[in-house]
Amino acid sequence: MQDLLNSIRIIGDPILRQKCRPLVFPDDVPYIIDLARRMGNALDVAEGLGLAAPQVGESVRLFIATPDHLDELCGHVVFINPEITPYGEMEKREEGCLSVPGIYEMLSRQSRVRIKAMDIRGNTFSLDVGELAARLILHEVDHLDGILFVDKLSPIKRKLLKGRLRKLREDRLRK
Ligand SMILES: [Zn+2]
Repeated sequence: MQDLLNSIRIIGDPILRQKCRPLVFPDDVPYIIDLARRMGNALDVAEGLGLAAPQVGESVRLFIATPDHLDELCGHVVFINPEITPYGEMEKREEGCLSVPGIYEMLSRQSRVRIKAMDIRGNTFSLDVGELAARLILHEVDHLDGILFVDKLSPIKRKLLKGRLRKLREDRLRK
């Protein structure tokens, strides 16, 4: 259990800053199945809503979500090579991230998103979602481009968090 939690990469880890590569069907299928299983286990233990591949050290365009709490995801769990179109009003919500433990901040993002992605079998599907599901998708797709939610906070908020973020980076190196 603890091993899975320790496998989640923390801010300061360079892999969280890379732009991830697209996955290829059918060549990557065995890798995808193994990765999705590992990520599902890690997300269960961490009790998060979503997890992106770079958070477990894999620089590929895949994220998973827990659809139990998010009806709008229509049961989809694995999102591969997602393409998104955010739209709608800007909306403030509290965000957190398993890679930035202990930090929760209000962040403005667009309230809705259209997403096209592939499932684990390589079938393409599309969803149009709002609220928490939209927030989750925008957060996870940012991970695939090397972006963390704290990057998007106002300069003042970032300044206030500077000490705590530095401590997270230093703790990571001590492990
Ligand atoms: Zn995150």
